[in-house]
Amino acid sequence: MPTPLARTSAEAHLYLELHGCDCGERAFAPETAVVVLEDGELGSRYTYACPRCGKKHEVTFRLPADPTPPGPGFTYGGPEPSELLDAGEWLAVADAYASQAPADPAGLSPEATERARALLTRAAAAMDEVLKFVPEGADSVPDAGGQADPGRFRRTRLTAVRDAYAGLVAQL
Ligand SMILES: [Zn+2]
Repeated sequence: MPTPLARTSAEAHLYLELHGCDCGERAFAPETAVVVLEDGELGSRYTYACPRCGKKHEVTFRLPADPTPPGPGFTYGGPEPSELLDAGEWLAVADAYASQAPADPAGLSPEATERARALLTRAAAAMDEVLKFVPEGADSVPDAGGQADPGRFRRTRLTAVRDAYAGLVAQL
């Protein structure tokens, strides 16, 4: 299997968190090193020992040949769809981040506001990732019929949810 591409370190960290350790631990502080892959391309190797069970992990990702330039906002990667997470996983990530954010921004402390901003910014970025799976000219993620709620994978609905998260960030 070719080494999967991690477009950004945020995407690589998210992948590690989602997959976790066999013991169930999901919070890691990996060390990273740039390595040369078998085909001569550059990769990024993440190594860490699980803080709960001690199991050693080593995961290598391909680095983008053309790294995503730092844009004005947070992003998990360039315009191409993720090779690490599928559309359903990105939607679950967006749900998870958004569900941790307070529904009402009124009266939040500065720290809580900052945390809400980080959560909703990531939720919106994860929705952007789902949208990257919708082909040009199509109105839905292909094969969304296999998902529990295929209607959530329609372009109009994905865009509406993404814009709602971005709108909440703007209110903070
Ligand atoms: Zn473990």
